Amino acid sequence: MAEPQNLVAASAPPAQARIVIIGGGIMGCSVAYHLAALGERDVVLLEQGRLTSGTTWHAAGLVGQLRNHESMTRLIRYSTDLYARLEAETGLSTGWKQCGSLAVARTRDRMVQLKRTAAVAKAHGVTCDVITPAEAGRLYPIMQTADLAGAVWLPGDGKANPADLTLALAKGARNRGVTICEGVRVTGATRMTIDGRSRRIRILDWQDKQGQAGRI
Ligand SMILES: Cc1cc2nc3c(=O)[nH]c(=O)nc-3n(C[C@H](O)[C@H](O)[C@H](O)COP(=O)(O)OP(=O)(O)OC[C@H]3O[C@@H](n4cnc5c(N)ncnc54)[C@H](O)[C@@H]3O)c2cc1C
Repeated sequence: MAEPQNLVAASAPPAQARIVIIGGGIMGCSVAYHLAALGERDVVLLEQGRLTSGTTWHAAGLVGQLRNHESMTRLIRYSTDLYARLEAETGLSTGWKQCGSLAVARTRDRMVQLKRTAAVAKAHGVTCDVITPAEAGRLYPIMQTADLAGAVWLPGDGKANPADLTLALAKGARNRGVTICEGVRVTGATRMTIDGRSRRIRILDWQDKQGQAGRI
């Protein structure tokens, strides 16, 4: 993969935009997709390298709904719904496969923790079953279960291809009017002061150019 500094911007970023997103990983592309879905039209995403060339490229793509916090559980639950329909919407494969997941416990303490988390997940509508080691063994036959205290089975969990998923979100964003520029590194951001008051408008520097953004 080419180093970011060797990349030439495929398209020059506009001189100003209401919203500028910095970074074209899964987060930036998801933000772009959702802002566009909410009706924002003047949105620009700037990526210093290629889309997905950051951490996202390294991710395994596991999508698990069992989280310690309610907000995270709700977010991942929403994500599984989104991933299931994104391919039909954009025509790009996301690699989404709802294969389910098993969280196993080898100690009683860990099992107590799993049960608590499962109870919270259930309360938020996540299908989630506390199961015995034998039941876990039937779901995943190559796993040794003799030393397990129990497990939790989440049939709605799955895996996706992080790079493909990001590109599908980017396409969905582009389809709704978001401008995505690769090979553009943001090198600085300054809040503008007008009449002694700090304004929302900020100057963004990219390479040797400057642009304005309402929100970053
Ligand atoms: C080995 C590994 C396995 C993982 N497995 C999983 C998993 O199974 N499930 C899971 O949910 N998570 C997993 N993760 C975590 C997941 O990969 C990250 O949480 C996620 O990719 C972060 O996305 P991001 O968009 O915030 O960051 P990134 O993908 O890093 O995107 C940031 C982007 O910003 C760009 N950028 C940075 N600075 C600038 C600048 N100044 N100007 C312009 N662009 C800039 C970068 O080039 C980059 O493309 C894993 C991570 C690793 C490392």
